[in-house]
Amino acid sequence: MPPPPTFCPQCGVSLESADGCRSCGWINYVDPKVAVVILVSDGQGRLLYIRRNHEPAMYQWSWPSGFVDAGERVEDAAAREVREETGIEVEIERLLGVWSATGDQVVVIAYRAHVVGGSLKPGPEALAAAWIPLQPVERRPPAVFAHDAEILGSLLGPER
Ligand SMILES: [Zn+2]
Repeated sequence: MPPPPTFCPQCGVSLESADGCRSCGWINYVDPKVAVVILVSDGQGRLLYIRRNHEPAMYQWSWPSGFVDAGERVEDAAAREVREETGIEVEIERLLGVWSATGDQVVVIAYRAHVVGGSLKPGPEALAAAWIPLQPVERRPPAVFAHDAEILGSLLGPER
């Protein structure tokens, strides 16, 4: 995130608040960040996970994810993140959904994908990468981010 401005870009006065300018009414709109999360299925009841080596949720197991670069096609960002974090080449199958929350700057776009190549090898942003069975439920990695349970539910349906 860029630092908040200290002077109004419209009238030039020193800003008392990062929200905008009391002098001229300029509003500081902060752009959302678009993130992708990818549920890669092996077709045998397992999903691709990485063990995170950075905050947030350091050391936790989670699905490959990351931010979309400016000018990057969102589906391409999804495939890139999986490749960078796990060494696996995927084809994006379908959109699972879009998640956001009031006050949260990050908009999460989730996809389902399947393997088309590559080999499992954690990238620099992961301590490990592994195929993890979704059953039994009690051995499944716990949800680490706000929308994880809903994202998984959108993949598995109500029976999970
Ligand atoms: Zn102003």
